[in-house]
Amino acid sequence: MIDFRSDTVTRPDAAMREAMATAVVGDDVLGDDPTVKELEAEFAETLGKEQALFVPSGTMGNVIAVLVHARPGDELVMEERTHTFQYEGGAACRFGGVSIRTFPRASGTPEVSDVERCLRNPDDIHQPRSSLFVLENTHNMAGGRVVPLARVEELADFVHDRGLRMHMDGARLFNAAVASGQSPAKIAASADSVQCCLSKGLGAPVGSMIAGSAAFILEARRVRKALGGGMRQVGVLAAAGLLALREGPTRLAEDHARARSLASALAEIPGFSVDLEAVDTNIIMVDLQGWDSKALVSAAAQRGVFFFAITPTRLRFVLHRDVSHAQVEQAQTILQDLYGKGPDELGVPPGYDPDAEAWHA
Ligand SMILES: *Cc1c(COP(=O)(O)O)cnc(C)c1O
Repeated sequence: MIDFRSDTVTRPDAAMREAMATAVVGDDVLGDDPTVKELEAEFAETLGKEQALFVPSGTMGNVIAVLVHARPGDELVMEERTHTFQYEGGAACRFGGVSIRTFPRASGTPEVSDVERCLRNPDDIHQPRSSLFVLENTHNMAGGRVVPLARVEELADFVHDRGLRMHMDGARLFNAAVASGQSPAKIAASADSVQCCLSKGLGAPVGSMIAGSAAFILEARRVRKALGGGMRQVGVLAAAGLLALREGPTRLAEDHARARSLASALAEIPGFSVDLEAVDTNIIMVDLQGWDSKALVSAAAQRGVFFFAITPTRLRFVLHRDVSHAQVEQAQTILQDLYGKGPDELGVPPGYDPDAEAWHA
C-alpha cells in the first residue's frame, strides 16, 4: 500500500514505540506528569512562546483557542477553505457560540483587504463583534502553501490595530519553517496563539500542541478540561511527541523534495494538471481534465496507490515519512499506466457510484 491520503497516516517507528514504553509518567490533570511537562516546556521554547499545552488533536487545539479568545456572539474571520471552518464539525460555532465570516483566496495567503472587508463595525450594536482572525499556515486546501512571513506579520499588525487577536492554525507549521528557512518561533511570533500537529508529518501517533502567553495557556487548560481533553498518564504519548518535535522536522525537507518530484511526474500525465510553482511543501493538488476523480481514486486503490479526491476534478497527494523514494517512483508508474484506459480496463467495480463516495480533506 502506497498511502498519499494524508500525513496523518504515519505510524510510530521502533524508536518512538520504545520511548513510549519507557516513558516516566504521572497524572497530568494533577500536573505531575514529567514527560508532558518536558514536552510543553520544549515546545514553548521552540515556538518562542511563554507556555504550551498538549492536547489530543489539532481540532481540539483550534477550538480551545477560539473559546479562549472569543465570546459567544463574537465573529471569527478566516479564508473559506480553512480547516477550522470546513473540517472541524462546526466546533467553533457549536461550542464557542460564535459565527464565522469567510473570504475566498485561492493561494491560501490572505490579503489585508480580504480581512478588512470581513470586519464588522465595532460601534454598531446590530452587528456581531469581530474578535479573532484565524490564519492557516501552511494552508492545507491551497496545497500546503506557505504564507510568506512578511504577510503573516502584516496581517497580524492589521488585525491587532483593529482590536482582534490572531490564532495561527499551524497544523503543518514545521513544514512552513523548513520550506521558508524561517524558524518556527519567527513564524509564530506575531500570533497570539498557535496550534501545531505532532501527529502529521512529524510522526507522532496522537496529539497537538498549542502555545501562547501564560495567561492564554492558563485559560486554555481550563477549557481543555471542560471539553474532556484532560488526560492522565499521558506521558506515554508525550514521549512520542518529544521525539516528533526533536527529530520530525529534520526530515521534512525530504518530503518536500519527493513532493516536487512526484508533482513533476504527475504533470506529465495527459489530463493531469499540476501548478508546480504551488508545491511549496508536502502537498500536491492535481486538477483533472477528462477523468472522474473518484473513479481514478478507486482504480488506483485497486493497484495499491491511495490518495483523496477532494472535488470532482481535483486530487490531493500528501507526502510523508512512511512513503519511500522507491514507492514514489512505483506510484508514478502505476498512475501513468492508467492513462487511456476506459472504465472496464481501469477496473472500476460494476455499479460503482462516484456520488456515493465522500469528498475528503
Ligand atoms: C489536520 C489539521 C487540523 C486538525 O488536526 P486533527 O488532529 O486531525 O484534529 C487542523 N488544521 C489543519 C490545517 C489540519 O490540516
